[in-house]
Amino acid sequence: MTNPLLAPWDTAFEIAPFDQITDADFAPALDQALAQHQAWIKEIAENPEPATFANVIEALETPVQALEQVLSVFYTVAGADSNPERQALQRAFSPKLAAHFSSITANKALYTRIKQVWDQRDTLDLTAEQQRVLMLTHRGFLRGGAALEGQADARMQEIKSRLATLGTEFTQNLLADERDWQLELGEADLEGLPQFVVDAARAAGAEKGASGPVVTLSRSIITPFLQFSPRRDLRQKAFAAFAARGANGGETDNRAIAAEILSLRAERAALLGYDSFADYKLETEMAKTPAAVRGLLMDVWQPAVARANADADILAQMMHEDGINGDLEPWDWRYYAEKRRRVEHDLDEAELKPYLQLDRMIEASFACANRLFGLEFTPLDVPLYHADCRAWEVTRDGKHLAVFIGDYFARGSKRSGAWCSAMRAQANFPKATSPIVINVCNFAKGEPALLSWDDARTLFHEFGHALHQMLSNVSYESISGTSVARDFVELPSQLYEHWLEVPEVLREFATHAETGEAMPPELLRKVLGASTYDMGFQTVEYVASALVDLAFHEGAAPEDVMAKQTEVLAEIGMPAAITMRHATPQFAHVFSGDGYSSGYYSYMWSEVMDADAFATFEEAGGAFDPERARALETYILSTGGSVDPAELYTAFRGRLPGVEALLKGRGLVEA
Ligand SMILES: [Zn+2]
Repeated sequence: MTNPLLAPWDTAFEIAPFDQITDADFAPALDQALAQHQAWIKEIAENPEPATFANVIEALETPVQALEQVLSVFYTVAGADSNPERQALQRAFSPKLAAHFSSITANKALYTRIKQVWDQRDTLDLTAEQQRVLMLTHRGFLRGGAALEGQADARMQEIKSRLATLGTEFTQNLLADERDWQLELGEADLEGLPQFVVDAARAAGAEKGASGPVVTLSRSIITPFLQFSPRRDLRQKAFAAFAARGANGGETDNRAIAAEILSLRAERAALLGYDSFADYKLETEMAKTPAAVRGLLMDVWQPAVARANADADILAQMMHEDGINGDLEPWDWRYYAEKRRRVEHDLDEAELKPYLQLDRMIEASFACANRLFGLEFTPLDVPLYHADCRAWEVTRDGKHLAVFIGDYFARGSKRSGAWCSAMRAQANFPKATSPIVINVCNFAKGEPALLSWDDARTLFHEFGHALHQMLSNVSYESISGTSVARDFVELPSQLYEHWLEVPEVLREFATHAETGEAMPPELLRKVLGASTYDMGFQTVEYVASALVDLAFHEGAAPEDVMAKQTEVLAEIGMPAAITMRHATPQFAHVFSGDGYSSGYYSYMWSEVMDADAFATFEEAGGAFDPERARALETYILSTGGSVDPAELYTAFRGRLPGVEALLKGRGLVEA
């Protein structure tokens, strides 16, 4: 019998035939698909014909169907519906796939062919999109070290492998420190804690074999404990342990590892001819230079720190009224901020929830896409990998555009968080291919399923990514949909969250599960007000981390990472009662791998853009202004990575983003 992962899919819209695929099909299919891909790469690299755009770059863009099919199905079920067998397959596949793809980047014959096309780029009469794909391909190989030879090449391989080892050690040390610490609580120590924290502390105690409830260093326990426990001595103890993760001396200490990672990264950037690792890293981003990143962060830092200092005075005053003298400390902030929140923004999640029905929020996200872009959604009945998945055909003016799949409910087989991926990406080369896009979330099931405000935002966020995939209209798959710079990819998703907050959307779709009534205006006002609460603190802890990350990767690597951290924080005037969101020995974004190294700023960068971009709707005809919607699709949602993101944004907005709208949105300046 043919392996269903390798055969052509003769199904509606060529959706994977999930009902025919078994776990036993994956391993043999992957081996065959990788062999096919390898043969294809060899053919491209060893082609005796002179190198052309068609026989090198377009050949690389031609999908090897078998590999696309196996990987799209496997990644989908491994993330959203795993089991021990799939986990074992994942462990076996990761090194295999890593070796396969790095053998392509290291293929000298292939690089030579790419360089031959690159060198004749001015005489080839390429379209703008083709020029961009050629540039990106060539640059990707260069950045991977394909042009290095001899000693430099060997050293680069050594650095890469040492960095991979150090990244894993960093993560494991952090996990070990988080696992090994606990604070046992007596019954009296539970005073003031809400029931969900007490339950979590008891469950954690039972899991760890303690005699009673415990505080652990898991964010889901320690954060609410610091927020609600009136016991200042216990808060101090817990906070100290939280802050010391990765810096406890001994075998799990991360400080020397962080220093070695920074030094290897600097060496890697120098081998490739860059001034610093930050220059190397930011080259592919919208920001492009360390100076641009610093400029944006400092524009936000000034008003944020002013707000945080003003808030600190109010919180210190509250503490003194409690009879505690002395300074407000980091273990006091969350506790007094929560107290203040209850007085100023009394928002009861339990009161809000019945208004946020999952099905109505899905309808709301579709309705906004209909008003903005004319998209229509029709339910599809097709076999998927789990009974909870739902599918829709997406059309416009009666024409097929995409398939959208929603897998909304939490279950043991799904990893945590929420994400969007394309099971098939849009492309027009070598033939018109329509996308199949999936949103995976972890909402609680119920009859009817009700969301929290955060859940509803997540739903809109992931749907924004889905629109970026579904409205994509480019030739080549490598630049399709969300294949854009990291500091640009969250623009469509974070921007779409704004439509959830449009009062007319909430009035129509946030209706009570039992009475069907619209959300009362008073509740609506509280919901919208709560989103800017304590933003001074949140902005300061985040921006401080981003500035330290940036400083670590500019110029020579620091020998003493903690001294460097102290120096940066002193320079920017870090408030005494706030610490970095991720201090260096715990900064997994930056040290577990390369993903967010000198890139932690990108969350803020995207937020600046989404606030600025939504403001243009408000300045024009409102949230559904047709001209702005068209511009959004034309310049941002349909273009993928085919144009430099700064150019795209400028085309959409008439200028680069400014921080004004973000500062207003976070309540850091008067609206
Ligand atoms: Zn996102």
